[in-house]
Amino acid sequence: MNNINRRDFVKMMGAAGAATTGAILLPFEAYAGANGHVVVVGGGTGGATCANYLTRWAPNAKVTLIEKDSKYSTCFFSNEVIMGMATMDSITYGYDGLKKRGVNVVHDTVTGIDTGGKKVITGSGSISYDILVLSPGITFDHSTVDGSSDAVAEQMPHAWKAGPQTSLLAKQIAGMRQGGLLIIAPPENPFRCPPGPYERAALALAHFKEHNPTAQVVILDAKEKHSKQGAFREGWTRVYGGEATAEGNFEGPNLKWIKGSNGGKVVEVDGATNTVITEDGEEHKGDVVNYIPKQVAGAICKDAGLVNATGWCDVDLDFKSKVCDIVFVIGDASVASPMPKSGHSASSQAKNVAATIAAQMAGEEAPPWTGSNTCYSFISEKYGISVVAIYAVKDGKRVKVKGAGGVAFKGKSLRHHAKEAKYARGWYKGITSDMFG
Ligand SMILES: Cc1cc2nc3c(=O)[nH]c(=O)nc-3n(C[C@H](O)[C@H](O)[C@H](O)COP(=O)(O)OP(=O)(O)OC[C@H]3O[C@@H](n4cnc5c(N)ncnc54)[C@H](O)[C@@H]3O)c2cc1C
Repeated sequence: MNNINRRDFVKMMGAAGAATTGAILLPFEAYAGANGHVVVVGGGTGGATCANYLTRWAPNAKVTLIEKDSKYSTCFFSNEVIMGMATMDSITYGYDGLKKRGVNVVHDTVTGIDTGGKKVITGSGSISYDILVLSPGITFDHSTVDGSSDAVAEQMPHAWKAGPQTSLLAKQIAGMRQGGLLIIAPPENPFRCPPGPYERAALALAHFKEHNPTAQVVILDAKEKHSKQGAFREGWTRVYGGEATAEGNFEGPNLKWIKGSNGGKVVEVDGATNTVITEDGEEHKGDVVNYIPKQVAGAICKDAGLVNATGWCDVDLDFKSKVCDIVFVIGDASVASPMPKSGHSASSQAKNVAATIAAQMAGEEAPPWTGSNTCYSFISEKYGISVVAIYAVKDGKRVKVKGAGGVAFKGKSLRHHAKEAKYARGWYKGITSDMFG
């Protein structure tokens, strides 16, 4: 599937569709005004939001959401859970709100996509669709680090999909010996939530300050620079002490950040001994190791032949797959650059796609595409930082709008950062209400 071009793929799928149904596969516009069936795969940030907004904007459509789990825990605010500042219950949601809105919620695992026959194959059968939206998030790619596997995550929790992994890392942090070492090992770009590991480190410092004051945090980074680096450094310095070193690392009384070329890049992990080995041959043994593996689009995207050579799904400006333009791909699984892989991006893409589908069903022109991302991070429970960006289409490209947005930190008072923390909690209420009604 990866080796054929998009036109051939669509032609082939059209032929397959005609062969199985006796009908000619029609473009989206053919559904204008019809009561089509939109199937959304993945009831996380992108999928739940898209299903929710379709019930508002395309009231004649039948909307089915297929999600494998009966509950969803948000990754946003899961770092607070890990550091004992919030409970799993406070970040966990069911699907009753969406059901009340008229979404047909099916708890099943999608195991295949038959684009020609326009149906998804699930563990218990198949579901036909007129329009398909995929938002399956990420899966882990263990191919670049020796010893990396899903099994290793049981000893060295990544906690990069909220749920049992979050609880496991929380338990390990709470039980860490006094003066112990927490290693956080983030992967290369691109990955889900680029600022997440550095917020996790900051909240670990806040937790340890109170419960384990001699504990140390070491971030072994595969990268040379990281998201919101200036903002995090300013926050770390002001709240916990420390500064950048001449070699380009960061060093504080309880925190070290080591960049990839200075020995930060992890090349091997051993779950049995809680050890990671970096490119320079150094062995680092932690009391708790939060090794975050490299990521690619949710497995179903690869199985359906929708991924590029790097494992992510290329999409057009309207988020239709570049491989198959009868499927939308949103959220972390898509290549939406310059938008980051964040919940806010997924939510913004979901609303755009819901609007596009609603317009097409009504026989109207889709509204112009605009996107946004706001990403709050906590430096402590009390202080936050944020980055905001607005996106639009210019000269056929998705671009960041100059002068709109920015990073909220430099030289601002702690009172300002206390407000940012409050806004972050407001943002959380908004995004989860957009997801679950
Ligand atoms: C620690 C951490 C902190 C974060 N903090 C923030 C933040 O502050 N702000 C922010 O904007 N973003 C944040 N994020 C990022 C955010 O969580 C993700 O970017 C967002 O959830 C992506 O949405 P999605 O719909 O692509 O994937 P998900 O939300 O992961 O949803 C995917 C869903 O698809 C389901 N699924 C997958 N495959 C199948 C299948 N085959 N069949 C059926 N169901 C399937 C999964 O069960 C899952 O429910 C954070 C992430 C982490 C790890």
